[in-house]
Amino acid sequence: MKIEFRQVTKEFAVRDSDRPFRALDGIDLGVREGEFLTLVGPSGCGKSTLLDLLTGLTAPTSGEIRIDGVPVEGPGLDRGIVFQQYALFPWRTALGNVEFGLEAKAVPRKERSALARRHLDLVGLGGFGDRYPHELSGGMRQRVAIARSLAFDPDVLLMDEPFAALDAQTRESLQEELLRIWEKTGKTIVFITHGIDEAVYLGQRVAVMSSRPGRVRQVIDVSFDSREGDLRADPRFGEYRHAIWTLLREEVASVA
Ligand code: ADP
Ligand code: MG
Repeated sequence: MKIEFRQVTKEFAVRDSDRPFRALDGIDLGVREGEFLTLVGPSGCGKSTLLDLLTGLTAPTSGEIRIDGVPVEGPGLDRGIVFQQYALFPWRTALGNVEFGLEAKAVPRKERSALARRHLDLVGLGGFGDRYPHELSGGMRQRVAIARSLAFDPDVLLMDEPFAALDAQTRESLQEELLRIWEKTGKTIVFITHGIDEAVYLGQRVAVMSSRPGRVRQVIDVSFDSREGDLRADPRFGEYRHAIWTLLREEVASVA
């Protein structure tokens, strides 16, 4: 396994109470090398909390997370992160934003520029290197954010609802692009979403989460005979969607 969660629990202190709030409870989850895993669950079930643990920005209350068998003890350049609203530097061009991560890695200037250009090409923004973020659409900004994460060549790409703020059409084209990039680069991707369709479309496996406390209810293998054509019209797409919908609905019903 590339990534392993072992009995991971995360609690937050609650003001004026000595009982903490348990956001994640006994998470056991493995992500394979080169896998595209999507994690779907209702808002507030602990998806971002789980991803934050994986970035190493926060630590579990108990349990352990390992990458390549090594416990995560802090942030590292082996992991690239893309959030819903990626704060691109407004004073830097698209190219300058992609170069940023490479400066941190002390890549020489000439090489930096060439690498950044190659990654803008990869996300379909070849001609837009000189544009500033305010001159780009939301979808283009997320492409820049993806290029920035990929430029320093992380093993793992962590994405927290990166397309949630985009319109449906832009979202679909970015999903398609992301699959193409994944196939081309072979990265391990953990992609968080609250959208069932998005989870089924992108994931080789879909981990379905429940809330209060956040747990992984089930991990569903997703496979299609062919990825050609309109996948969303494939009857199996509907079956996967329904299975996940049912799991999530039971969840909502039990909380209500
Ligand atoms: P999701 O990303 O699935 O919408 P989150 O991981 O953001 O959910 O949050 C899960 C739960 O943990 C929520 O009830 C949220 O209020 C709580 N939570 C998240 N971060 C903190 C924090 N730093 N302090 C206290 N509670 C938090
Ligand atoms: Mg979240």
